[in-house]
Order: sequence, then structure tokens, then C-alpha cells
Amino acid sequence: MLPDMPTRLFVATPTKLMTFADCKRKYRYTYLERPRPPKGPAWAHNTVGGIVHEVLADFFGRWPASRRTPDEVVARIRVGWRDEGFRDEVQSLDWRERATEMVLGYLRESDPYYEPRGVERTVAFTTARASLRGRIDRVDERPARSGDGTELVIVDYKTGRRPLTSTDARSSLAMALYVLGARRVLHRPCTRVELHHLPTNTVAAADHDDDSLARHQRRAESIVDDAAAAESRWAEGLTPAEADEAFPPEPSPLCGWCDFARICPQGRRVAPPRDPWAGLEDLPPTEALD
Ligand code: SF4
Repeated sequence: MLPDMPTRLFVATPTKLMTFADCKRKYRYTYLERPRPPKGPAWAHNTVGGIVHEVLADFFGRWPASRRTPDEVVARIRVGWRDEGFRDEVQSLDWRERATEMVLGYLRESDPYYEPRGVERTVAFTTARASLRGRIDRVDERPARSGDGTELVIVDYKTGRRPLTSTDARSSLAMALYVLGARRVLHRPCTRVELHHLPTNTVAAADHDDDSLARHQRRAESIVDDAAAAESRWAEGLTPAEADEAFPPEPSPLCGWCDFARICPQGRRVAPPRDPWAGLEDLPPTEALD
């Protein structure tokens, strides 16, 4: 790098940071090794979550109010349904019905004329060392609770089995970074984060303040520093042994849900790979917080 050139910022999403924090080897497989090592099969719970997110994005972000009807929702789910990860067709069709009920239940009370401030909105902000970005499921703009103007609310849809709490909302690094990004990009006050849990049709909410946001940002920057240092080593060219030392496996119960468990002996020893449909009934531990 030439003198006086600005330091290159480390570009990351919350998912990338959390992958590094959870397991360095998984990070290396996901973000650095090319060609990327083969992943395991698709997860059925991700299929359900993906389709639910797509339908809600269409409903709030693309459809005019005249289209926002239960019949349109049912038709959209049928057209968009995929069999990826399910045990068989019977299970897939059963979950197509469950997903339909979930979405219809969630939308039952919604105002068809409601226009969120953003849907699948990309936001970003920079720190001294990083450019952090992410895509928010929905950004609501509501009357400010202070009584003055409006405020933004970060909404994240969740479809896993475990009911969520305000602690889940408050402790989510992703949600805190979304608050900082939304403030930066949309120029409105924003403190509130909400996890909308569709299976129970409940909302787990939390309000951030300057201290909690600063704590999350410090945590993000600390992960950025470690990931940037590890990536610098990778860029120098590492032998396989050196790569394993710079990006060690970090076996945990999460390994059963890891896309790379089939090629990771250390992970397989701790938790054998789960069936692709196992997450429908037995929630992966990080689902609530990704
Ligand atoms: S199986 Fe476990 S240790 Fe191996 S890469 Fe995946 S998360 Fe890391």
C-alpha cells in the first residue's frame, strides 16, 4: 500500500461476522476457499424460512393493496414452493400447508394499505476499520413514542420453532447493526428492534440505547480485527497446516447443523450431521440470532 493511502475497510455482514465468531474453519470454507468446498444438502427449515420471507417481501414491498388478499398469498406460496431438504413429498406438502397458515395468521390483522419504509432494505455504515452492511426484512416507520415526528423500527421475521424473547432481540448483533445502518442511510431516529415470530404470531421487542449500540459495535469491531488479521495471513498464501492453524475448527453442538460437517472430522466427532429436515422439529441453536 502506498503512503497516505487510506486503509482499506474490511467489508462484512452480520452473518459473516457471526460465522467468524462461531467457527474459523467454517468461515474459511464459506468466504475464502475457492473453489468453495462442497456444501451438504439444503435444509428444509431454510426452505420454509426462505419462502415465507419471499412472500412477505412481495406482500409488503411489491404488491399493490388490491393484491394483498389471502387468495393471492395462498397462490404465491403454491407457485413458489420448493421441495429442497424435505424427507419426502408428504412432508413437503404438509409444510406447505403449515407455512401458508403461518403467513395467513401473521397477515390477518395487517392493513392492506400499510407501506413500510423499506422491504429487504440494504443498509450500511462505516467504522474506522470496517464497512458493515446488511439487508433488513422490513423497516417500519411509526409515530415516534416521544410524540415528535416518526421513528424507524427494525423488523426481522423468524420461522423457527423456539418462541423468542426480548433478550433474543436485544442480544442480536445483527439487529443492533441494522439500527446503526438504518440511522445512517434513512436519516431517522431508530432504537427499536422486533423479532416477528410467525409460528406463534408473537413479537419479541427491545429498545437499544447509546450504550447497548456501542457495546454491539465494539463487539463487531473486535471480530473485524481478528477476521482481518486472519485474512491477511490467508492472502500471503498458507500451507494446509498453516491454514488449519489460522482458521481452526471450533467444534460445538452447532456442528450438527454445519453445511461443511461432512468434510470436517472434528465437527462430526462432536455432533453428527443432522438430517436435512431435522430443523423443522428441532431448532438449530443459532436460528433466533442470525
Ligand atoms: S463442522 Fe463444526 S468445526 Fe467443522 S467447520 Fe463446521 S462448525 Fe466448524
